[in-house]
Amino acid sequence: MAVPKKKISKSRRNMRRSHDALKNATYEECSECGELKRPHHVCPSCGHYKGREVMEASDAA
Ligand SMILES: [Zn+2]
Repeated sequence: MAVPKKKISKSRRNMRRSHDALKNATYEECSECGELKRPHHVCPSCGHYKGREVMEASDAA
């Protein structure tokens, strides 16, 4: 098994991890009901996707 020759310093490790943070999730308004939903996801409040109902609307929210 390949093994690193030198220990990665805290500085190098942290530099590598500088790109690891997660971005905030994006939301946009549903074109059917105006609720905020994730893009490319079925709207959780009205169950619409691409202008038609694809899922039973949930009572919550
Ligand atoms: Zn909706």
